[in-house]
Amino acid sequence: MRTRREFLQKITYSAMVLPLLPSWQFGSPHIDSEPYEGPVLRVAIMGLGGYGTRVAEAMKACKKAKLAGVVSGTPAKVKEWQSKHQIPEKNCYNYENFDDLKDNPDIDAVYVITPNALHHDQVIRAAKAGKHVICEKPMGLNAKEGEEMVQACKDANVKLLVGYRMHFEPKTLEVVRMRQNGDFGKILFFQGQCGFRIGDPNQWRLDKTLAGGGSLMDIGIYAVNGARYMVGEEPIWVTAQEMKTDPVKFKEGVDETILFQLGFPSGAVSSCLSTYNMNHLDRFFLNGEKGFAEMQPSTGYGPIEGRTHKGKLTQQHITHQTLQMEEMASIILEGKEPVIAVDGEEGLRDLKIIDAIYKSCHTGESVKLV
Ligand code: NDP
Repeated sequence: MRTRREFLQKITYSAMVLPLLPSWQFGSPHIDSEPYEGPVLRVAIMGLGGYGTRVAEAMKACKKAKLAGVVSGTPAKVKEWQSKHQIPEKNCYNYENFDDLKDNPDIDAVYVITPNALHHDQVIRAAKAGKHVICEKPMGLNAKEGEEMVQACKDANVKLLVGYRMHFEPKTLEVVRMRQNGDFGKILFFQGQCGFRIGDPNQWRLDKTLAGGGSLMDIGIYAVNGARYMVGEEPIWVTAQEMKTDPVKFKEGVDETILFQLGFPSGAVSSCLSTYNMNHLDRFFLNGEKGFAEMQPSTGYGPIEGRTHKGKLTQQHITHQTLQMEEMASIILEGKEPVIAVDGEEGLRDLKIIDAIYKSCHTGESVKLV
């Protein structure tokens, strides 16, 4: 897992969003020292694994979001996190008792960072406890799960957000701004290539019951999601082909490599690759009648690198998860509208496309999306 994602960070902010952002986001990778006295989102992280640890570290630099609690199945980790992050005992839960969050006024939101197959039930339980929920990608295993999660959060009157950190990344937002501004002209083509060579054959990512699939659920989802925000349309058809070179490591239902194509209402098309069997594969390319954008790396932890027909993208790097949590706090606490949606409906759109990709792999036919 780490191999693909172990480039670290520097970022920048787009001209479009600059006027909307607090001053710390212009230059420093950390929040400035200006005192902040507004509301703070108090977050409990569920699942103290690799990514949960990264989010917790990044949140230290946030002003509007704070790690306030944990939900974990590993008591030793809870102790370690308590002392490292000054978390009181009353804000510590396990997977059996976290429904008791409903009686805890000191937690506003739960961030679910567990294996994919657990997201559905955990998000619904957190919502029923009256807490806003941030859920890691993929939001669920399929569109049916996604719909139930969206409905449960609506019923509980809480917000559901998906951990799409790239939706706040400055170079990405600059390309989206340029596309919206017409700088690329009519969009014709998007290419998204996302993958890494996965290690340990015993990890949950290679277990269908916990991962819900293979590379597509984990890394190919960045190309699915990226195709939508780079082209700026929702696809209307999908074709896909699966290739497997190692059926022992990649068992039935765990995809190793998938090629997929998406067609958009304007006639734009997209050609994408998702794989667990190639390194150095983290590239987006957008082509229009008047210009292009290319990004490589395009979705790793950064710094993201890219250029367009107008030159190099120079926006500064800020730790993705710091920026994400700061912006998500504004969405939840102040009703701020992000440039690219991060709500449950957004997660659901990706799950519908993922369902269609798997269906096309099995049938060999084009699948229409309604
Ligand atoms: P890890 O395996 O590192 O951590 C998952 C944690 O979930 C475990 O440490 C454990 O925490 C908890 N857990 C609960 N039940 C189980 C179980 N049955 N098997 C294994 N772990 C369990 O995974 P990651 O942190 O890498 O991934 C977690 C989620 O985050 C995934 O959905 C993944 O797609 C997403 N992710 C997102 C990234 C992004 O850039 N947005 C990057 C990496 C991951 P505990 O011991 O505390 O219970």
